[in-house]
Amino acid sequence: MLRIRHWVVRRASFFTWLYGVSERWMVRLTPLWKHVGLSRLDRLFAWVERPAKGLLFDCRMCGDCLLGSTGMACPMNCPKRVRNGPCGGVRADGTCEVDATMPCVWVEGWRGIKSTGLYSRYMMPRRAAETVRSGKSAWVQVIEQQAVIHPKPERALPLDEEETFGRSSPYPPNGFEELLSSGAFAVTAELSPPDSANPEDIASRARYFEGLVDAVNVPDGSGANSHMSSLASSLILRELGFTPVMQFACRDRNRIALQGDILGAAALGVKNLLCLTGDDVSAGDQAGARPVFDLDAISLLRTAKTMRDNAHFMSGRPIITPPDVFLGAALNPFIPPFDARPFRLAKKIAAGAQFAQTQFCYDIERLKSFMEETRRLGLHQRCHILVGVGPLISAKSANWIRSHVPGIHIPDALIKRLQDARNEAEEGKRICVELIEQIRPIAGVSGIHVMVHKHERLLAEIIRDSGLRS
Ligand code: SF4
Repeated sequence: MLRIRHWVVRRASFFTWLYGVSERWMVRLTPLWKHVGLSRLDRLFAWVERPAKGLLFDCRMCGDCLLGSTGMACPMNCPKRVRNGPCGGVRADGTCEVDATMPCVWVEGWRGIKSTGLYSRYMMPRRAAETVRSGKSAWVQVIEQQAVIHPKPERALPLDEEETFGRSSPYPPNGFEELLSSGAFAVTAELSPPDSANPEDIASRARYFEGLVDAVNVPDGSGANSHMSSLASSLILRELGFTPVMQFACRDRNRIALQGDILGAAALGVKNLLCLTGDDVSAGDQAGARPVFDLDAISLLRTAKTMRDNAHFMSGRPIITPPDVFLGAALNPFIPPFDARPFRLAKKIAAGAQFAQTQFCYDIERLKSFMEETRRLGLHQRCHILVGVGPLISAKSANWIRSHVPGIHIPDALIKRLQDARNEAEEGKRICVELIEQIRPIAGVSGIHVMVHKHERLLAEIIRDSGLRS
């Protein structure tokens, strides 16, 4: 099956053309299909599609086919069901973050996209799969949508909500957004929520950042482990006078919970949201947990943007006061497929990203080539890009991170430098400061994002030593 799948992706141009021709004919024959009846047609088509698409594409019959824009690689074979991939966890050899025995579906798909040249189709943000369509014919959905057999009903506002609809946020303008828009060079830091129910356990560590950072990121179940929730931690930070960037991972909540949390965060004055797909549950200490991945980072961005700009939920139901949120995305320019990464940023911008923070940067040359392409596409003018950095504590921990944490690329030369140093921790700090000095002048970079697990004092020292703040 895998061999046939690879064979098809290698011939993505032909299959994409065939797909387009079939789609046009399906729509043209609408009067005939109406005569047959759509429910009868659905059964008939699904009966043919299941074995044929199963053989060629390892199709999972999601009922909402994306093959025409994915280089003929079926995204439903992705263990995280990422429909706007590749995610930020692809391994250095192009295999999957979750299952190292299989190539990343989206790395394969990207090869197919390049052979078709249909980059604009790839860059369109794709919606989440609808479970109600699972097992149904994808062609019948195309006929329904393109021939507008079942137009969506007009959204009607309930009468008692009409008067208050569109009321604006009760909170003052977002300082972080204003700062980035002013062109100032921003500094953000990550603070890991504690394994504790005591707010003082956040406050004591956050104090290291006083006067040094413009915003503080709060991870959401980082590394697929349980910690104090991102929303509660963000609120505690806000009350302490910090500007939180609340991270939102799709791993643990479905679209109903995520949309509720977007409203809740905005209602509590937490306005900066970083939308992530999230590490797989296998990365954490509760690998038996059920992963959700109902949305991915891009469909979450699109959902949040729609809620803010169009004042309605994914279902179309109106929102009385839309969430006044500033939307962020994560980037990983340091893992394959490298040439896809700027296009993925473009896709995130199309979905709603206004700022982006990268994974740890330990490879300046890789960052420079990513930024060059980003500038060529004009993306740095549409999204503020903050580059992530962090100190390596020792050669041993750097080696461990490289082989155990998805999506982190550390070149051999840096590990050798740590091994040869008399004081590895000091050398790790020096490397981090040097990286900041090299990143700062790169055109298109809007700021630095410092992070390391539970070493906030060290991060504060690095911010000072690098001259970012005094
Ligand atoms: S690396 Fe990420 S996008 Fe690729 S198949 Fe694995 S989970 Fe999916």
